[in-house]
Amino acid sequence: MKKAEDFSEWYNEIVEKANLTDKRYPIKGMNVWTPYGWKIMQAIDSHIRQEFDATNHQEVCFPLLIPEDQFAKEKEHIKGFDTEVFWVTHAGLNPLDVKLLLRPTSETAMYPIFALWIRSHADLPLKTYQIVNTFRYETKQTRAFIRVREIHFFESHTCHATFEDAEGQVKEDFDILAKLSKKWCLPYRLLKRTEWDKFPGAFYTVGIDTLLPSGRSLQLGSIHEYMENFSKPYEIKYEDEKGEHKFVHQTTFGMSERLVGAVVAIHGDDKGLVLPPDIATTQVIIIPVLAKGETETVTKSARDLHAALKAAGIRVHLDERDLRPGAKYFDWELKGVPLRLELGKRDMEKDKVTFVRRDTGEKTLKDRKTVVQEVKDELVKIASDMLARAQKDMVQDTVTVSSLDNLPEKMIKTGWCGSEECGHEIETKSDRNLLGIPVDGEQFSGKCVICGKPTKTPVYMARAM
Ligand SMILES: [Zn+2]
Repeated sequence: MKKAEDFSEWYNEIVEKANLTDKRYPIKGMNVWTPYGWKIMQAIDSHIRQEFDATNHQEVCFPLLIPEDQFAKEKEHIKGFDTEVFWVTHAGLNPLDVKLLLRPTSETAMYPIFALWIRSHADLPLKTYQIVNTFRYETKQTRAFIRVREIHFFESHTCHATFEDAEGQVKEDFDILAKLSKKWCLPYRLLKRTEWDKFPGAFYTVGIDTLLPSGRSLQLGSIHEYMENFSKPYEIKYEDEKGEHKFVHQTTFGMSERLVGAVVAIHGDDKGLVLPPDIATTQVIIIPVLAKGETETVTKSARDLHAALKAAGIRVHLDERDLRPGAKYFDWELKGVPLRLELGKRDMEKDKVTFVRRDTGEKTLKDRKTVVQEVKDELVKIASDMLARAQKDMVQDTVTVSSLDNLPEKMIKTGWCGSEECGHEIETKSDRNLLGIPVDGEQFSGKCVICGKPTKTPVYMARAM
């Protein structure tokens, strides 16, 4: 299946062919992580841990089950998740006194405990995160990594003394995201969700939205400011310097295995995956090109090259299988290995190695003597080119309109006065969801597409993947 012809089918096919997941598990939307898929997820998790540890967050791990009465304390929150939770009602043959649910997200698991952990201003800020599986009963059609019912999930939860401190955390989250997205080569927009689409219980929600080649948006994660909306019902209080008891201000940041789906969808092509070098399990594949009578010298040279790259910390593999080079190229292209090194007799005589980039197919000859540095440089270049291309595509696939007739299947930007009434009407007329207004203060000068009032606020919308 070709990506340009039927994106949806292409995606389903490629995740299976590249062996990222096994969808044969007998529960819909709960797939098996294969070794290859799990390694990619773990690489992403390790980037997340690195950035959050570096900003003084502490990793925690809370229980999977949440008692019904704890879950019900914040009214908006329970309303938002009511139809999506899985319940545990029995222990053995006995019905439970208090029903338990599988966490759809962990606010209601963590916050009763935060109320015990936090006593005084000296305990703040409390910055925690965990990487766990969460459960949501998706009613829409499931899709590997993108819409599943058991979700590999990252969530940070922070508590602060003041609203300003919490706002500072949201800004820090934006900075962390900017660093991570470079590693993952994923472009995104930060869009403040509408009041009617924000996270249940949040004061505001910022969606992290990317755009897929199909013209549909994919939410990669979200960052929330809760203010005191959860600390009040869960009684998370601290004593300030004057001995007064105050409620903490809270934020959260969530991302999921959708990041894997986004990398596949945005960068993959008709030959298979194209993995960003920081995510790739194997960054460099060496293929010896053997001809009769010279296999020994080429094999030795390939093994030396492998050892040199490995010693330099590069994730490299030497493919010595008894297969034709063409068959090996095909395999590693499907797996998305960013850089292929071909080594044959002719190259060796000239003291050269052939580099082939997975993302562009470009072939170049490099000096054998400086090959380690050349590989390092090439991987950096591949990553920055991949991000730049994806960013350019996202910008090109966003169109600004002043009428809602005949909208293309792209990300749409238009004027919005900000009123709820006009917002709903935009959604009805366009048959798209409003993603929200940009948080970066993007300049805009136009009119509300519904009421015609002049506005400096654009709103973005798209059909969701
Ligand atoms: Zn309006």
